[in-house]
Amino acid sequence: MRTRQTLRAHCAQHLDTMRAEGRYRDFARLEKIADRFPLYRWHQPGGGAPREITVWSANDYLGMGCHPAVRQAAAGAIAAYGAGAGGTRNISGTSPEHTGLEAELAAWHSKPSALLFGSGYIANQAALLALLTALPGMIVFSDAMNHASMIDGMRRSGAGRRIWRHNDLAHLEELLQEADPAAPKVIALESVYSMEGDVAPLHAVCDLAERYDAITYLDEVHAVGLYGATGAGIAERDQASGRIDIIQGTLAKGVGVVGGYIAGEADLVDYVRSTAGGLIFTTSMPPATAAAIRASIRHIQQDSALRERLAERAAALKAALDRAGLPRLPSESHIVPIPVPGAGHCRRVARQLLERHGLYVTPINYPTVPRGTERLRLCATPFHTDAMIETLMAALRDVLPVARAA
Ligand code: PMP
Repeated sequence: MRTRQTLRAHCAQHLDTMRAEGRYRDFARLEKIADRFPLYRWHQPGGGAPREITVWSANDYLGMGCHPAVRQAAAGAIAAYGAGAGGTRNISGTSPEHTGLEAELAAWHSKPSALLFGSGYIANQAALLALLTALPGMIVFSDAMNHASMIDGMRRSGAGRRIWRHNDLAHLEELLQEADPAAPKVIALESVYSMEGDVAPLHAVCDLAERYDAITYLDEVHAVGLYGATGAGIAERDQASGRIDIIQGTLAKGVGVVGGYIAGEADLVDYVRSTAGGLIFTTSMPPATAAAIRASIRHIQQDSALRERLAERAAALKAALDRAGLPRLPSESHIVPIPVPGAGHCRRVARQLLERHGLYVTPINYPTVPRGTERLRLCATPFHTDAMIETLMAALRDVLPVARAA
């Protein structure tokens, strides 16, 4: 009785603090309009008719989740196999769609083997936990901006953790130098950083990994589908795949569906498959989902038009912001963050964009980014038109009084 009251009081107080700090998470109810992406219907909190809006923060970066070939593959596969997998991978939940997809992912990343997970988050958490507990005394060197899913796996492993300043190779080398030369080492990083939009210098990191005898673990979540000759990511673009031990990715963003994976040497991948709780004790993804993913990847590999158009639209968005004198972080990718410091302010700006202008832009607050560096995270897609960009500029000029005054 006392436990329940104390727990509820704690939860209520915590939520009040989050509200007071502008960090309370409201989830806008958004209905994708598959034939008109990036238009959605916003179901407003007070009820009433849903309102048509433009989304500027979708992670379906290429709109592949709405692509006719992907929708058709999903529908056909549901008709053939049903809606769910019906078991864990171990217990009747491995279909030819799963194994076929794993073979295709391995080939895409030029690796001998790949392994599917329910999400990119679980892939990172489970794979890092498994690998970092494989040998005694392991040390993981982690970029300061690494995603929560990597941090989760690293923390749970209990391995030694050294955090290098974001993309700062001199600092990474300093930490490698200080570490016990005999300790087994892993360098964990992302290629495109999700909240900054900048890109890691992969070859320089691999040079250090070789010099200090570390293996490399690369999260390509924000790059898969978007970069490289066949869309496999930054490692493909930079011809660095052969120097990365484990490539991790998602099937939810550039590929537009859901799921995560790792790709690497067969014995490492098989070790994760055989030991990771996040793979063994959970129902596998529906075979129809795997079929939709395969259709999406096939299209991405064969047709570079969407990623070329995405790069062109991202450049157009950045140019428009610069012309309008609006601030932005110096992104090298399709992710375009606009600094709006102050959690409450950032959230209010996002709300005004939605309510006044019918534009959905996600406010990014602590703990996703450090306090004081709150931002709006914009992502162009191949389907954002010049007119949409101009509407966004006018709306930002309206709701960003600080920027307007500058
Ligand atoms: N890694 C990074 C860098 C991410 O930003 C995310 C999610 N946004 C993930 C992993 C997790 O991917 P998923 O959404 O597929 O769980």
